[in-house]
Amino acid sequence: MAADIIDGKAFAAGLRARIAETIPAFREKTGRAPGLAVVLVGEDPASQVYVRSKGKATVEAGMESFEHKLEPTVTQDELLALIAKLNADRTVDGILVQLPLPKHIDEAAVIGAIDPDKDVDGFHVVNAGRLAVGATGFVPCTPLGCIMLLKDRLGSLSGLDAVVIGRSNIVGKPMAQLLLAESCTVTVAHSRTRDLADVVRRADIVVAAVGRPEMIKGDWIKPGATVIDVGINRVPGASEGKTKLVGDVDYASAAEVAGAITPVPGGVGPMTIAVLLRNTAVAAHLREGLSPPPTL
Ligand code: NDP
Repeated sequence: MAADIIDGKAFAAGLRARIAETIPAFREKTGRAPGLAVVLVGEDPASQVYVRSKGKATVEAGMESFEHKLEPTVTQDELLALIAKLNADRTVDGILVQLPLPKHIDEAAVIGAIDPDKDVDGFHVVNAGRLAVGATGFVPCTPLGCIMLLKDRLGSLSGLDAVVIGRSNIVGKPMAQLLLAESCTVTVAHSRTRDLADVVRRADIVVAAVGRPEMIKGDWIKPGATVIDVGINRVPGASEGKTKLVGDVDYASAAEVAGAITPVPGGVGPMTIAVLLRNTAVAAHLREGLSPPPTL
């Protein structure tokens, strides 16, 4: 039996529409729109594409986008001075620094300088700590998007066995914390995990965030499991010189066994920007002393 496809693109479009619906009332109450500042250092082509699409999605949702493009030679002090200015700017509700930063800049120092209440990427240690202790804060966009897709598909996740493959600070670790908060029994696997296939076979929920094309095979998947593929890997395409995107899961074989699976592209990817907009709208409401609408 073929797995159901979890349509992240459609879910993300719905979330973006729900966010856009909350903006007129926010404007009415505050006289302004929520604002997201995106900081891009250098000319990395992939980062430029991400920043452009984030800016476009922000404006489409009815929010303000402030783009700050800095030369690759910018000093750490200059970048920190910009962060301080954005922290103090009342029209800015969210600050996102596009990673990676050039080698001469200490990423942790820059992320650590962002006001945690404007840290809509959820990368600040204060927000990581809030997530760890179950306090309210900003959660990294990709794992929060994965949880939204899982809850939409499964309803309650309580008591389910979840395996997260990958332990990065931006995906694997926060993903594990979110699943734990949903009362899953969580295993976090990584490059030193023994018998990974056997570990994955126990899981009702598999979240793959490894960065290795099609590593997780169909015969690793428990029949009926829900598979969330975070991986985005560019590999050679069918014809000469062309490339295509694949996930960390071998989609063709996994889709024969799983109950439901996210495709790549069109699964987790579109959720990341939608959740960024959601976090920005939430930040704006909280900064104005308003309750974020329950639809967010
Ligand atoms: P990292 O490279 O930071 O982390 C990869 C993790 O995978 C590490 O914990 C590593 O283990 C583990 N790993 C590597 N090789 C193996 C292996 N052979 N077996 C088991 N575990 C292994 O990656 P990210 O978390 O940043 O990203 C993961 C993937 O998700 C990438 O493909 C990335 O492009 C994608 N991504 C997609 C996003 C989206 O919007 N959809 C957003 C962010 C990321 P160890 O810690 O032991 O080294």
